[in-house]
Amino acid sequence: MKKPLIIILLGKSGSGKGTQAELLQNKFSLDYIGSGDLLRFRRNKKDFTGKKMAEVLAKGDLAPTAVIFKLWLDKVETLKNKKNLKGFVMDGNPRKILEAYLIDEVLEWYEWDKNVKVVLIDISNKEAVWRLTKRRICKECKEIIPFVGQFRKVKKCPKCNGRLIQRGDDTVASAKNRIKWFKKEVWPIINYYRKAGRLVKINGEQPIEGVFKDILKSIK
Ligand SMILES: [Zn+2]
Repeated sequence: MKKPLIIILLGKSGSGKGTQAELLQNKFSLDYIGSGDLLRFRRNKKDFTGKKMAEVLAKGDLAPTAVIFKLWLDKVETLKNKKNLKGFVMDGNPRKILEAYLIDEVLEWYEWDKNVKVVLIDISNKEAVWRLTKRRICKECKEIIPFVGQFRKVKKCPKCNGRLIQRGDDTVASAKNRIKWFKKEVWPIINYYRKAGRLVKINGEQPIEGVFKDILKSIK
C-alpha cells in the first residue's frame, strides 16, 4: 500500500498557503490540519482553555505550543485511524523550531516519516505587505480572500456570496509585525529543513496555477 503523503506548507502570511493547501487537498484527496481551524474549534469549548483561547485569539496572540500540540496530536490520531487515508496537508504549523522537532517525532511515531514533503512558498517582504494590506474578508463567513490572481477581481465571497470588506487590523504596521515574527520564528525552521535536505522552495510570486504546478513538480 502506498504511504500517505504528508505536506508541510510554510510561507509568510499572504503567500497563498491556504489556497495551495486547498488545491492539494482536492488533487490528492488529502485531509487538512490547519492550526487556525484547530484553535477556533477549541475556543468553542466553555472550559478554562476555551475561554482563555478566545482572549488570546481576539488579541491576535499565539497559543502556546503545548496547547496547540494537544489539539494537533488528537487530530493526527484520528487520521491514523481513518480508513484509506491518502495523507494530509499541514497549514500553519510548525510556527516555532520546537514545533518542527515535535512534528518530526510525532510523524515518526505514527510511521509516517517516509513521505513528508516540506514546501516553502516564497514571497518577498514587499509582496507580503502589499498582499496583506489589500486582502479582504467575507463579512458573513469570515473567509479570507487573498490578493492574488483572479481573487483580486472577486466582488463577492466565492463561498457564500457575502459582502467583502477590508479588515481593520490589516494595516502596514501589522503586516510588518508578521514579517518580523516570521524572520524570528520561522526562519530557523526553514533552515532546519534546508540543512536536512528536506526543503523545497517555490516562487510564490507567480499566478496561483503556476505556484501549484511547481509544487506538484516538487512533490513527485
Ligand atoms: Zn462568505
